Parts: sequence; C-alpha cells; structure tokens
Amino acid sequence: MNERSVAIAGGGPTGLMLAGELALAGVDLAVVERRTNQDLAGARAGGLHARSIEVLDQRGIAERFLAEGQKAQVAAFAGTPLDISDFPTRHPYGLGLWQNHIERLLADWVDELGVTIYRGLEVTGFAQDDDGIEVDLSDGRSLRAKYLVGCDGGRSLVRRAAGIEFAGWDPTTSCLIAEVEATEEPDLGIHADHVGIHSFGRLEYEIRDGEILFKEGGPLRVMVTERQPAKGSEPTLRDLREALVAVYGTDYGIHSPTWISRFTDMTRQASSYRDRRVLLAGDAAHVHAPDGGQGLNTGVQDAVNLGWKLAQVIKGTSPDELLDTYNAERHPVAARVLRMTMAQVALRRQDDRTKAVREAMAEMLGMDEPRRRYAGVMSGLDIRYDLGEGHPLLGLRMPDLDLVTANGPGRMFSLLHDARPVLLNLGEPGRFDITPWGEVQLIDASYEGVWKVPVLGEVAPPEAVLVRPDGHVAWVGDLDDAGLPHALTTWFGPPTR
Ligand SMILES: Cc1cc2nc3c(=O)[nH]c(=O)nc-3n(C[C@H](O)[C@H](O)[C@H](O)COP(=O)(O)OP(=O)(O)OC[C@H]3O[C@@H](n4cnc5c(N)ncnc54)[C@H](O)[C@@H]3O)c2cc1C
Repeated sequence: MNERSVAIAGGGPTGLMLAGELALAGVDLAVVERRTNQDLAGARAGGLHARSIEVLDQRGIAERFLAEGQKAQVAAFAGTPLDISDFPTRHPYGLGLWQNHIERLLADWVDELGVTIYRGLEVTGFAQDDDGIEVDLSDGRSLRAKYLVGCDGGRSLVRRAAGIEFAGWDPTTSCLIAEVEATEEPDLGIHADHVGIHSFGRLEYEIRDGEILFKEGGPLRVMVTERQPAKGSEPTLRDLREALVAVYGTDYGIHSPTWISRFTDMTRQASSYRDRRVLLAGDAAHVHAPDGGQGLNTGVQDAVNLGWKLAQVIKGTSPDELLDTYNAERHPVAARVLRMTMAQVALRRQDDRTKAVREAMAEMLGMDEPRRRYAGVMSGLDIRYDLGEGHPLLGLRMPDLDLVTANGPGRMFSLLHDARPVLLNLGEPGRFDITPWGEVQLIDASYEGVWKVPVLGEVAPPEAVLVRPDGHVAWVGDLDDAGLPHALTTWFGPPTR
C-alpha cells in the first residue's frame, strides 16, 4: 500500500471517473473509500445529461449506461423542459438512471482497469512536502503519493485540511427525502403549495412520451419541503411525519424507512481547486441544490478534465503548471452551475410574483434561441474553455464526426477511447512530424459532412484540429501553422527531440 503516484480520497462518481482516467493513462493510483462497498444509502442523482453521456462515449463505455437507463428529454430550467433532440450530437437526450447504478457501472469499469480501492478506510489527514504527500488513514497506516485528489464529497476532509475556503451561501430552504412504506396511497407526482415543492414517486418508473409512469407497488419515494429551513443532516421518521402533516394534513401512515435524508440549497465553491499537491474535484469543490441535476455531471467532467493533466505531470511529460489549467478551466464552469442553480431555487418559490417570473421565463424559453442557449448550458454541451481567440471550435467539445481513416470508417470518439490526444488532419496527409510529441496520435482522415456544434450551429470546416484527451479542442488550423508546435508543447509537453 505504501507508495502510489496518486491517492484519491473518495470513490463516489467523481473519484471513480478520475481513477478510470488515470488508470487508462497507466498511472499507479489508489482510491481510499470510506464505504465498505459501492452501495449507496438513498437516492441521489437521477441521471446523466448529454455531455456526460458523450464523455463516457469518448471512453467507449456509454452503451453500458444507456442499456440500463431510460433515454429522455431531461434538460429543463426551473421546470420548463428544454428539448435537445435537434442538437448535433449522437446523444441528443439525457438518461434516467439512479446514482447507485451509475456508481456500480463506473466501479465495474475501474475494476476492469485494475484500479486498487481500499474500502472501509478513511483519509484522516495529510502532510505535504517538496517531494510528495503523506496521506493518513483511519487504520493508523499512511500512504505516500505525489498528489492527493479530494473527491470526498461536500464535507470534504481534504478541502478542510488543506485550508481551502468554501465560500458561498447558507441554505434558505430544505427538503426531506426518504424511501418508506405507507398504509395510505398518496397522489404520485409533483405537488406545490405555499411552502414549496413536494413529490411522491416510486423507485421503478418508465418514461413514455416525456411522462413518468411509476410502476405499481414497492416503496414510496418522498420529497417534502420543510416549513423552516433546517441545517441538521440527520433527520428522523418523526421529522418526516411532521413535515408531511404540515403540507398534506396527513402522514399517509408512513413507516419502515430504508433511508431518510435532507438536502438544502446551500451553495458553495472552493476558492481554489488546488493547493500545491492537493487537488479537489466534484462535490468537494462545489455544492448546490439538486435543481437542474448538475452535481454528478459536473464532478464526472471535473475528473475528465483533471485526469490526463495529472497523468502527464506524473509521467514528466508536462510541467506541474499544467495542473493550474484545471482550476482555470473548471472553476468558471461550476461557478456558472452554481448561478444557474440558485436562479432555479429562487424560481421554485410559490408566491404569485415568483410564479409570474417563472411564467415569463417559460415564455422566453419557448423561443428557439433562448431554448437552444439554456439547453446548451443544462446539457453541458456548450461548455467552452477559454483558450483564447480563434476558430469557434477552440475550447469547445470536439464533435463525434463520422470519419474515414486508413483503417476505414470510424467515429471521432473511438479515437479517444485510450484517453490519448489526437491531431486530426483532414487535409493532405504526411505534412507534419508528430514523433517529438510521442503521446499524440496523428490521424489522417476525411470527413464529408458539415461541421455543426450545439447552440452555435454550423462552423467553418477546419483543416486540422488538435483534440485533448477530454475531447476539447486545443488548437485549430492547418499543419503548416507556426502555432501548432506551440499548442502541442503547451498541452502535451516540450518536444522530445
Ligand atoms: C437529492 C439529491 C438529488 C440529486 N440529483 C442529482 C441529479 O439529478 N443529477 C446530478 O448530476 N447530481 C445530482 N445530485 C448530486 C450528486 O449526488 C452529487 O453531486 C454527486 O454524488 C457528487 O459525486 P462526488 O463523487 O463528487 O461526491 P460523493 O458522491 O459525495 O462521493 C464522495 C465519496 O467519498 C467518500 N468519502 C467521504 N469522506 C471520505 C474520507 N475522508 N475518506 C475516504 N472516503 C471518503 C464517501 O463515502 C463517498 O463515497 C443530487 C444530490 C442529491 C442529494
């Protein structure tokens, strides 16, 4: 156990995705996870947005998730559905799939990649020095690593021990969620009153024509807004009964809870995602209300941004400063998620004035341009890292083009399965020597279609594109462009000769 290149605290969705990314790059790592197995007490994320499905597709594992979930138009803003079926992506939809299944599938994947997970152990502290970091574990042992990544959730010990500020806003509202049995049958679905939004559902459901149809029988899933926002996180059956009575005048005879939990609209973000050898990702770096279903998606995409950078620094291909681009790129993404989520929580209020704003917003989102813009945000398909001025593709996700290469027809995303960068040349072949950047695959290909990206629409076809392992475009131009060696060096290290 003693020495690894990377230690990951927490094997939730973010930690598992990061572990997979690092393992693909051949990095020696270990995950330390408090839970003794991957089981999850309670319902959390209800699924994936389109960009997360694409990210899994880039690694060749999207089908595993699609086979178990339900494709549906899940993007919405403050209750207004945002249809993305006209977006130019292979996955113009979201996926209904509970977080316990998402975690199980991710855990299977990292297991296939040979990742070591120390289960039933906690990270309890750490000490950094010039050469590495000594990570303390709850069984009294320690683990030495070059870097420690805190993927240990909203109450992150790693973040606190690093002294990283978690600035933001205290809760204004709180909801109880639970899975229970009941002697009376409530009306299934979403209800609203002056206190807020409440719902009853069942674990098993089917989405037909955009409608959720709950399967008969089985435990009830309850969500009820509390009259007074509560901060405590260990609610009881009595709290749930009282909250139900306050809203419905009855507690429906609920009993036998399998779990009861509380979420709030507390909204906070780490002031920095890095302190020397310590990095933060997922809920450890940002928390917010579940409105819009962004948390798990943002964490998984943090991991995909960080994984290849950390791998290159560990291997000595790139200098340590490459890790600073992780904060520079991902901090603004989560800051926007926080803003959009707070706006949706504000619009959840049930007074007449808020209702009027919600209706005005819904009317606006019924127009095509606003619908496309907001759908781009909520689906994650419009995420663009600020890589400077240039071709509109720069910093955006690379589209999954149908290419023809020397190996025959194939998809762009297939070229990313090993998490290696790709220099895609659609011009005349054989005009560039890629060998000084050994990690980068130079692929000569042809593509017949138009270049279209979500929200922006059609863009001018480029001659060559440099695609990072996370699927974002790092450079666009032609192979004679003097900027190409510079971009290769910036992202994939100095030439080796
Ligand atoms: C009601 C609700 C609904 C939600 N709905 C959605 C949704 O629809 N879509 C969406 O994208 N997100 C949703 N979320 C958010 C989503 O659940 C989280 O954003 C997601 O779980 C974050 O993943 P993570 O891996 O960063 O953190 P976590 O899932 O919190 O994982 C952290 C892991 O670290 C472990 N751990 C903690 N401390 C230590 C330690 N010291 N040492 C070792 N291990 C440790 C924990 O056991 C855990 O496994 C919802 C959340 C809630 C509460």
